[in-house]
Amino acid sequence: MTNALPVGATIGILGGGQLGRMLAVAASRLGLKVHIFEPGANPPAGDVAHRLTTASYDDHAALTAFGQSVDVITYEFENIPTSALDLLETLAPIHPGRQALATSQDRLTEKTFLQGLGLQTAHFANVPDMAALEAALATIGAPAILKTRRMGYDGKGQARIKAADDAPRAFVDMAGAPAILEGFVNFSLEVSVIGARGQDGAVACYDPGENVHEDGILRTTTVPARLTASQRTDAVLIAARILNALDYVGVMGVELFVTPQGLIVNEIAPRVHNSGHWTQNGCTICQFEQHIRAVAGWPLGDGSRHADVTMENLIGGDMDKLADYAKTDAAIHLYGKDEVKPGRKMGHVNRIFRA
Ligand code: AMP
Repeated sequence: MTNALPVGATIGILGGGQLGRMLAVAASRLGLKVHIFEPGANPPAGDVAHRLTTASYDDHAALTAFGQSVDVITYEFENIPTSALDLLETLAPIHPGRQALATSQDRLTEKTFLQGLGLQTAHFANVPDMAALEAALATIGAPAILKTRRMGYDGKGQARIKAADDAPRAFVDMAGAPAILEGFVNFSLEVSVIGARGQDGAVACYDPGENVHEDGILRTTTVPARLTASQRTDAVLIAARILNALDYVGVMGVELFVTPQGLIVNEIAPRVHNSGHWTQNGCTICQFEQHIRAVAGWPLGDGSRHADVTMENLIGGDMDKLADYAKTDAAIHLYGKDEVKPGRKMGHVNRIFRA
């Protein structure tokens, strides 16, 4: 393990949400410490981290102290301000690297990159203004989806266009943000591959999971997904191609639409991913440990699946049913968030179907 961080080293994590929390738990199991940087008060990751810095991403003194206190930096969300990264990268290595972040922060860059790799995406066009939207609709056709180029997640910053006369309303919904128009993909299934790449270039992908969304938010992920053997292989090869092209280090989520024309890449997330939470109870090495291993320069672990699993998110009022979940044999994972809000991810449960 040349270049591997020794036990006792510190991993800095930008973002203190549930993903940071589960990364911190995995790191501590490996004898590594975690320092969380998070602007918000009482972050879920703060409960389980060795250190917590509460400061904003434009607080240079706080960022500098954070960067000096860690051996490597990673992150749990992709919309980190560029100025913060410029400063931090002078203090410690950042994994996954800047190219992966820049690619996934902007839907236009992302789709252009994916097409450049020979992968299929939805038809898309850049929409800087209303005239461009009309031109894009004339080429791509309706139905279509207008999405902000940046800062979109869980279906936010998106407007469906069922027919051309929906265009002005959809454009207003973008609130002046640069956008792209995507042709509507008629998919039979949504699946995702959670892939990892180590510092030595080794790639390991988990079995693809089948995702069901409600109101734009992930509801369940089920493994195995209803894919043919060749679709499953194709999905994993697509993820590996993306990981290698970005010279990636860490775990990535690759969301795919399954269509009769093949697999279409929806988006990539340069981090551990909600649709990979099933690995906590379905694999020996879960996505969180895999990510920590990669960024720490350790060898990747074996991500093979030893059970069929359904992961169900506990969203908002689902927490009222916690006592019922606790009576079942489902594995419960809660994020320690103080306040229940509609649409807020509070935890998840993993149900194992075959040991
Ligand atoms: P996104 O934020 O891009 O992941 O989109 C959230 C969800 O909206 C996806 O998981 C799909 O269910 C749906 N969606 C996004 N883009 C498209 C598209 N081009 N065609 C059909 N459905 C889409």
